[in-house]
Amino acid sequence: MTTAALPVALVGDGLRVPCADGTELPYLSFDAAASTSAMQQVLDAVEAFLPWYSSVHGGVGYKSEASVLAYESSRLAALAFARRQPDSGDVAVICRNTTEAINHLAYRLGLSRGDVVVTTVAEHDSNRLPWARAATCRYVECGKDGTFTPEDVAAALDQRPVSRLLTVTGASNVTGWLPPLPEIIAAAHHRGIPVLVDAAQLVPHRPLPAGADFLAWSGHKMYAPFGAGVLIGPRRVFAARDPFLVGGGAASVLDLDDVAWAAPPEREDAGSPNLIGAVALRAAIGALEGIGWPDIADHERRIARLLRRGLAAIPGVRLLGPGPDTETLPLVTFIVDGVPAALVAARLAAEEAIGVRHGCFYAQPYLTRLLGLTPAEARATSERARKGDRTLMPAAVRVSAGINISEHDVARLLSGIERLVAGKPPVRYRRDPSTGDFYPVRSGARVGQPLTRGMRGAQ
Ligand code: PMP
Repeated sequence: MTTAALPVALVGDGLRVPCADGTELPYLSFDAAASTSAMQQVLDAVEAFLPWYSSVHGGVGYKSEASVLAYESSRLAALAFARRQPDSGDVAVICRNTTEAINHLAYRLGLSRGDVVVTTVAEHDSNRLPWARAATCRYVECGKDGTFTPEDVAAALDQRPVSRLLTVTGASNVTGWLPPLPEIIAAAHHRGIPVLVDAAQLVPHRPLPAGADFLAWSGHKMYAPFGAGVLIGPRRVFAARDPFLVGGGAASVLDLDDVAWAAPPEREDAGSPNLIGAVALRAAIGALEGIGWPDIADHERRIARLLRRGLAAIPGVRLLGPGPDTETLPLVTFIVDGVPAALVAARLAAEEAIGVRHGCFYAQPYLTRLLGLTPAEARATSERARKGDRTLMPAAVRVSAGINISEHDVARLLSGIERLVAGKPPVRYRRDPSTGDFYPVRSGARVGQPLTRGMRGAQ
């Protein structure tokens, strides 16, 4: 059974692409956790706005005013989407993506190496490296299934020195696990510690946590791939000190040796902002809210169950992460006995026209734990990778879905994986040790990648 409005086709769904055997199939993306195609409403909103596009900062004239209005409406829509009351005192900073938003905040908090930030081993690099550079990280460990409890977080928060911030993912990009945010946020607030939720994965699937002090997310993971993301936080944080980026628009008064920073959020808006990205973001917010979270969550829970059950039933496939009783996003990471993850992904792409992700998913410490590698084993593979051989890097295959995926799509994915596990490849594959990737070859030449070939020829 499907929900009335779901699945929703995305722009480009069903495009036919060439396969290694010379046939064509409709492309099926099971890589929503990396990036999503646009919703039709997003594209429509962008097209409708483009004739009105004009300068945002300081322009005078009807179109400029329309542009300022559009930009500021997007900020307000982002705040409401994050369940902030208009009088909450929070601001929405429009930036490029989650990575930029987190770097932004790591600068904005004015941290130094003596400061501690509590985070977890389950984080994406984009929610680890900015903190590791700005401060000292204290990590919450996970169990074999990749989960941790609010008590584990509380124990890390109770260590000394007291941490300046807790930063935690809203949903894992490797296991799809949803950490118990309300309890985790409450544990931090009980100790007077503010919380950033990295909502990159959460944002297209569930409502954002109202209790988080800071939120960061990306438009391209919520059907608005026009280069805008959001950082939300209390105005007072952005009213102190200089902004992350300095330049035109960030300062209200300037002399050669004097600067008065603009009030937030304009203080964070140095340079010409991505107005089209902001318009797309607002349209995606409207479209998702139009479908409604209960229907989205219901549909995706069903897809998640089908994916988990179906994959677990294929001989030789081992799922990573929490067991079947734990709720997850429609995202499953797995390994196939005796078949490198990179080959599984290459074969799905070349033989089935299905796009998935493989490797470490920018979360190598977490994947290492999920795979049960010892620290010595992990070090040895990293050492070989540094010397140019990535074939032994810890790796798995990830399939991830969004609102456009149907039960039929899941069935197509599962039968593709069944074929792949059961049979020999119909074409030969060669591996490039420097990337660890496989590609199909016929008579010594790459096949099934005419786009790449075309682009090379055009250069
Ligand atoms: N955090 C998580 C959990 C992610 O999955 C990602 C993207 N894969 C990011 C942060 C970074 O997002 P972006 O690339 O849009 O900056």
